[in-house]
Amino acid sequence: MTTRRTVLGWAIAPLLRSASLPEQSAAIVLGRSFPDPAISYLFLDAASGRVICSRWIDPGKRIPVGSLVKPFTALAYGETRNFQFPTVVCKSEESRCWLPQGHGRIDLKTAIAHSCNAYFLELAANVDREALDAVARRFSLNSPDLGSGPATLIGLGTMWRISPLSIAQAYIELTARSAEPGVGTLLAGMALSAKLGTGRGAGPGAYVKTGTAPCLDELRHAGDGFAIALYPTSAPRFALLVRAHGVPGAQAAVVCGRMRRALASGAGW
Ligand SMILES: [Zn+2]
Repeated sequence: MTTRRTVLGWAIAPLLRSASLPEQSAAIVLGRSFPDPAISYLFLDAASGRVICSRWIDPGKRIPVGSLVKPFTALAYGETRNFQFPTVVCKSEESRCWLPQGHGRIDLKTAIAHSCNAYFLELAANVDREALDAVARRFSLNSPDLGSGPATLIGLGTMWRISPLSIAQAYIELTARSAEPGVGTLLAGMALSAKLGTGRGAGPGAYVKTGTAPCLDELRHAGDGFAIALYPTSAPRFALLVRAHGVPGAQAAVVCGRMRRALASGAGW
């Protein structure tokens, strides 16, 4: 994708040549309202997977995306277990979760909503490699390296790198496959995330997943927050992927929510 710095941000000048008027207005609204260079975004049409507007230097470059990989690892687990998912007890540090007090007894839907590491480490330890590769192919994602451990399969560390464009389009594909086994539960978890989980900052009426990943951008930040929102839940028209440098995923979700409101009020999207 061509990127060019302008007064409104990256990648707007190329859009002005080819984009429709509404698409230009979306680019201008986001460029004006979110000038902070620590914030990157991709705003996509969920029907076609096409980028409506963006500000993301090299969105095709593979980077760690943290917990955004969790739904795909869960699907791989389900492939070989008739999509029967366990209940796990998260005891926090003992369970290697990020939440100090732990999430307690948790099922797949709630684990997606709260992005529980303990839950997904348990699934990832039992994922069949061929199933994971099959899921990755189905969603046009690159697989992690052979021999990757459970931590990599839930998005910890830097080993499983996926381009922002690919992960956004994989989520669009996920919503398109809502009737397939396991997917409905994942989407219910993402809707719950928007209501009361790590994604609640992204606002209502969306399927949301958050992630936090090591920042490889000259290692300037301890971690970068990611949030993707697909909305409306009745039949997603848009996918908005946000990365905010130096904050956790829940905070990236707050930025995502502000962008949704700006797009709705400022550009009619
Ligand atoms: Zn947990």
